[in-house]
Amino acid sequence: MKHSHVARRGLMLILSSPSGAGKSTLARLLLEQNPDIYLSVSVTTRGRRPSEVEGVHYHFHSRDRFERMRDAGDLLEHAEVHGNFYGTPREPVENALASGRDVLFDIDYQGAEQLYAKMREDIVGVFILPPSAAELKTRLERRAEDASGVIEKRLKNARTEIAHWQDYNYVLVNEDLNSTFANLRNILLAERLRRERQVGLAPVIARLDEELATLTD
Ligand code: GDP
Ligand code: ADP
Ligand code: 5GP
Repeated sequence: MKHSHVARRGLMLILSSPSGAGKSTLARLLLEQNPDIYLSVSVTTRGRRPSEVEGVHYHFHSRDRFERMRDAGDLLEHAEVHGNFYGTPREPVENALASGRDVLFDIDYQGAEQLYAKMREDIVGVFILPPSAAELKTRLERRAEDASGVIEKRLKNARTEIAHWQDYNYVLVNEDLNSTFANLRNILLAERLRRERQVGLAPVIARLDEELATLTD
């Protein structure tokens, strides 16, 4: 092991935004570059979009099955968003964190609120804003995955979602994708280096101290 390697506690990186601001795109880029990050795959009662794959983008469940999971305590958090139910399966997240992996969440403000209440020190919350309302609409339309009524509903809900921007540790305006992604990577890098997260520092400091004592004796 390199001397500079220090064991670290996994962190929980939460991305939230109004629909269409770009969080799924940013999440995909981050995972491509950091295959060690575990993506929390949510359970949802929403219908599958043409581009989505069961078990990769979501676990698509019936309302019944969702409620059974929720009632059994199998969800770390859950919420109703745009008329559908969404929830985070508990066990995979706990396992990933226990093995020191960072976990990425694409969840709404209600879910973020529930996780902040339970696990505040482990969370890095990032809220993504669109540069303008017109651009948000354009992106939802260009994505071409939702019916026009669904897009309208999501645009309507955007104001409520944006009102929660102050709950988050960081806010990014996603105008140029590459610069937003660079900023997100820098946030992750800095948060990984926080003193409290470097749980393996004590032996490193002890060794340095010993070496210095020998050197200067
Ligand atoms: P997008 O915003 O267009 O990517 O739409 P999605 O269908 O991916 O997500 C719908 C909403 O549900 C978004 O606001 C997500 O942030 C939220 N969401 C997704 N996954 C979760 C989750 O595991 N828990 C909670 N609470 N919300 C989630
Ligand atoms: P969300 O997951 O927040 O709903 P998506 O990641 O699906 O949003 O992005 C919505 C659409 O906008 C997608 O078609 C995506 O390719 C596009 N998009 C994302 N970020 C940008 C950006 N900075 N500039 C232009 N288009 C973007
Ligand atoms: P979409 O239907 O576009 O995939 O997601 C709509 C919204 O639901 C997004 O804001 C997304 O982040 C959120 N969402 C997805 N999964 C979950 C989840 O498990 N919990 C919560 N609270 N929100 C979720």
